Order: sequence, then C-alpha cells, then structure tokens
Amino acid sequence: MRIYTDHHVHTEYSPDSLGDMEKYIIKAKKLNQNEIMFTDHIDIGSPDEMFHKLIDYDQYFQRVMELKKKYNIDIKVGVEMGYQKSFHDEIENFVKKYPFDFVIASIHFGEGMDFYTGDFFRGKTQKEAYFRYFEIVEDMVDNFSDFDVVGHLDYITRYGDFVNKKYDYEEFSEIIDRILSKIIKKGKGIEINTSGFRNELQVFHPKRVVIQRYLQLGGKTITIGSDAHFVDDYSMGINEAMKLLKRFGVEEISTFEKRILGKYSLKG
Ligand SMILES: [Zn+2]
Ligand SMILES: [Zn+2]
Repeated sequence: MRIYTDHHVHTEYSPDSLGDMEKYIIKAKKLNQNEIMFTDHIDIGSPDEMFHKLIDYDQYFQRVMELKKKYNIDIKVGVEMGYQKSFHDEIENFVKKYPFDFVIASIHFGEGMDFYTGDFFRGKTQKEAYFRYFEIVEDMVDNFSDFDVVGHLDYITRYGDFVNKKYDYEEFSEIIDRILSKIIKKGKGIEINTSGFRNELQVFHPKRVVIQRYLQLGGKTITIGSDAHFVDDYSMGINEAMKLLKRFGVEEISTFEKRILGKYSLKG
C-alpha cells in the first residue's frame, strides 16, 4: 500500500534546520516509502537575519536529481513561503520562478516583527496578539493566491511568554470562520501540522476544533505534515492526524505534485 508522504519537511537548506537531505531519504526508504517531499523555508524580507540568504534552487534541484538517481526514489520539491504583505511582489515572483510541486503559505512574522523573539507580543495582551495574528493570516489569504495550503494556521500559540498559550476557538470564531471560508472560496486548503506534539502544547496546528470547522464549512483540501527540522521527526504524528480525520468522517486527504491536487484514501 502506498504510504502518505509527509507534506512539511525542512532540510539543511532551511536556515533553522539540521535535517540532512540524504538521511531523510534513507529514513523514508526504511519506512517503505518510495517518495519524499521537502518544503524548505523561503522567508523574503524576514526581520531575522538568519533567513536573508535565500536558497539557490538551481543547485537544489540539481542535488535532488542526483539523490533521486542514487536512491531510486521520487523526490518532490515543495516550499514553505513565508508571507509578508510588504514583500508581496518578490514573494510572488519567487514562487513563479521555480517548478515547485507544492506551496505552503505561512505567516512567521507580524508587523515586521518576530514571534519567536517575542517582539511582536510587546505592548499587546494575549488576546490582542492572537487576534492581530489572525488578521494578518486573513490579509494573506485576501492578497496572495499562488499557494496550495495555509501552513500551521494557529502558529501564534507556539510563542509568547504566556502562562497558558492555548486559546478558545469561541473567542476568535468569527475571524477564524472568515479565514476558513476565504480559503475554501479560493479553492485552497489547510495543513494539519503535527509539530505541536513535540512541544508542551500537545496540539495539532490548527487545533482540532478549527480542523472540524474547516470541514463543516465545506473544506476538502487537507495535507498533513510534521514540520520536521530534524530527521528524527520525519513523518511524526501523521498517523494520529489521519485517525482524527477518519473520526471526523473524512475519507480522503490531499497530496500535491506539480501543484496539482491528488487524493490519498483513508479507507481500508
Ligand atoms: Zn512555518
Ligand atoms: Zn515549516
């Protein structure tokens, strides 16, 4: 049986990852997978200097070709595009420039500030910071179209120096429903990002109730990704996400190749 391919994987080409491309492939082979997908970071205009040097994709595709041959495995090249409205044109041009299989659109920064360093949270209550984050995601969905799924929809809850980082869907239901409806109307999807199970939050991004809302509102395109930055985390949590979707009555999840939507059956 074909095994679902992790749709969110960072290699050493991402500035914040130590994941060796070749070791990922060896791991995928061990898991009996005959294909693998990489989705490295491109964060144009990042306030974090670490991300300023962008990936040389000519060299990247060359490496992928060599590894494909060496290991006789199908390698898909996706990308996780960090979106910032002020760099919209550069971001659009970058996506157009290369033959990506899959594009995740993610918000990693807000108002030119980093979530990770805490700058974004300064002077905001928790509710204000989360609400502003969702507004920025909505703005991305309004303005950007050259993507397949929105990455880790409630990513903001990973950061901030709060006693309880979790949020109630009810408090943000209006804006979350609006974002989900706009994603659906655009014919785009969401991902279930399993990285939350590798920290204290112990949740999917987005959380269960938001995934359920996406389905209730008519959403049909869901990919699953570990957001691995280390080889050990590859494919982690994917089976749990599939189980959740089955419980929600979902029969198929989504795959992408050459930016074309495919389906993977959860039945059987
Ligand atoms: Zn991300
Ligand atoms: Zn990522």
